[in-house]
Amino acid sequence: MALAGDQPPGEAASLSPGPGQALRLMSLALDQARLAGSLGEVPAGAVVAGPDGEALALGRNQVIGLSDPTAHAEIQALRAAAGTLGNYRLTGLTLVSTLEPCPMCLMAAVHARLALVLFGAPEPKWGAAGSILDLCALPGLNHRLEVRGGLLAEECAELMRDFFRPRRQKGPPSPQPSPTIPGLAIEGTLPK
Ligand SMILES: [Zn+2]
Repeated sequence: MALAGDQPPGEAASLSPGPGQALRLMSLALDQARLAGSLGEVPAGAVVAGPDGEALALGRNQVIGLSDPTAHAEIQALRAAAGTLGNYRLTGLTLVSTLEPCPMCLMAAVHARLALVLFGAPEPKWGAAGSILDLCALPGLNHRLEVRGGLLAEECAELMRDFFRPRRQKGPPSPQPSPTIPGLAIEGTLPK
């Protein structure tokens, strides 16, 4: 796999982190993934970097901790970068993620007008960069971004395996009671 920065000098070359920078950014993303895993979240981490290859924002999977189904690592990093820059457009920036982004996160990268998405391990269940679909190849998108995978893939995949191994050995979790909504006398019905 070609790493960012390997391309010959040209239009997009100056907007991509070089190979050394890409590895450094992925190490930061891996730190975020480990932190997520240590807190009981699926270990996924992400970094948004500027055109100079310097990290601007970090993100980690926090769906459980924040009770937020959209709090994937990539979304968290994009939110933080947009907040730091005071701009919802992150034109020309790079997102580095330990895992192949899901459709929500990759589409968020398109909305943000990123230039490049670099990821580590493929995600066969959710990945939108070729695993379950190739979102960036969909016709009609008004922004094209480059997506490349395989950066420190083995390290990223190993984190996931280490996280899920003890859970698989224990067997599936026992069913949780349905959540109740405060103020509702009977679950699922509206108060009169
Ligand atoms: Zn996602």
